[in-house]
Amino acid sequence: MATEGNELWDVVVVGAGPAGASAARVAAEAGGRVLLLERAAVPRYKTCGGGLIGCSQTHLPEGLGVAVHDEIEAVTFGLGGRRQRTLASDGPLRCKMVFRDDLDAALTRVAAEAGAVVRDRTTVVGIEDHHDVVTLRTGSGDVVRTRALVGADGSASRVGRHVGVQCEQVDLALEVEVPVDRGTAAGWRGRMLLEWGPLPGSFGWVFPKGDVCTAGVVAARGQGEATRDYMRDFLDRHGLAHLTPLHDTGHLTRCRRPDSPLARHRTLVAGDAAGLCDPWSREGISFALRSGTWAGEAAVRVAKAEHEPDLARARDQYVAAVRSTLEVEMRASRRIMDVFTWRPGVLHTALTAVPPVWRRVDAYLTGSTTIPAVLGTPAARAALRAIDLFR
Ligand SMILES: Cc1cc2nc3c(=O)[nH]c(=O)nc-3n(C[C@H](O)[C@H](O)[C@H](O)COP(=O)(O)OP(=O)(O)OC[C@H]3O[C@@H](n4cnc5c(N)ncnc54)[C@H](O)[C@@H]3O)c2cc1C
Repeated sequence: MATEGNELWDVVVVGAGPAGASAARVAAEAGGRVLLLERAAVPRYKTCGGGLIGCSQTHLPEGLGVAVHDEIEAVTFGLGGRRQRTLASDGPLRCKMVFRDDLDAALTRVAAEAGAVVRDRTTVVGIEDHHDVVTLRTGSGDVVRTRALVGADGSASRVGRHVGVQCEQVDLALEVEVPVDRGTAAGWRGRMLLEWGPLPGSFGWVFPKGDVCTAGVVAARGQGEATRDYMRDFLDRHGLAHLTPLHDTGHLTRCRRPDSPLARHRTLVAGDAAGLCDPWSREGISFALRSGTWAGEAAVRVAKAEHEPDLARARDQYVAAVRSTLEVEMRASRRIMDVFTWRPGVLHTALTAVPPVWRRVDAYLTGSTTIPAVLGTPAARAALRAIDLFR
């Protein structure tokens, strides 16, 4: 039965993915009364490669205890099935492969242990701003009142629409999780594949997870049939097409416009809900963990703010944290995406035939550098200037 909620929360977080679970944990650790609302039953399946780059690993809570199904020691790069080359990885934090239902359930458990109240199977369907509270309506008609709201409800975000998030890049990703026999599993162990695809800006991946492989392709939205054909061809080429998938799903990935809002009144958006995702690799877990953490910290200050200047300061601190790091990373990655979309072969050659380029990309994957730092080196700047002249 629907209820009118009299209870007033300090912070309500919508969505128990990496962004929302991080926000809820951090806000609860700071002493806020926190409610975490999740549409699905936890643990829930999420279409995702489950690849944790070094940056994601460093932003996980200590001792999370999530099962790692493989650690990547080598990456095979391919260009549409040709010119395959396997390169060894030797960075400090090897890319780790996890299942997202395990990861997100573990992050949610840690948020609950920090004091957040978790309510799953609860969909937020309406949001209203009032002077000093935000009111949410759930699918079952309940009303929830809060001093601060964090929207971490993923790439089709209801809260993101409320805030006015605008995206400049929307892609369709198709993915399967397939059980593999022992021989196939042994062939993939410790090695992931990234293969540049036939559609502009597209690529495919195979991520090993013991007796399961996660494989998929991503391409700009609006070419569904061509993307499905690409997926069939990709799976066939890598000997995965004949296997019956455990999961066979699709999901949109979205990248924000740089001027898109991150906050409105008492609401902040984080992770995919804010369009925070790497435009080239479509890596999003590190963006979700970091923005979720900062949103949780800022939400506690929003909850305490009585007057508009305090509220504005709390919002601005969050916006400044995102703009000075994640936006800078996205801008640099857009630069790579431009070159990649124009000529994937140029990037492939640089990666596979120029050892320092691979060493830097490996350092990014394993967490000892960032994309802006990679592009900031004199050699990279000179190469990009030459490409600009040539295009
Ligand atoms: C095919 C694919 C592969 C990917 N592979 C990788 C990878 O290997 N590594 C990587 O780093 N990134 C990867 N990404 C990106 C990554 O999955 C996302 O960036 C990441 O999940 C974002 O986390 P989030 O917490 O913002 O959102 P999500 O993980 O999407 O969580 C949002 C949560 O909100 C809930 N929700 C939605 N609406 C409501 C509502 N109205 N009310 C209540 N709850 C709601 C959802 O049920 C969900 O649990 C991939 C993406 C795709 C599509």
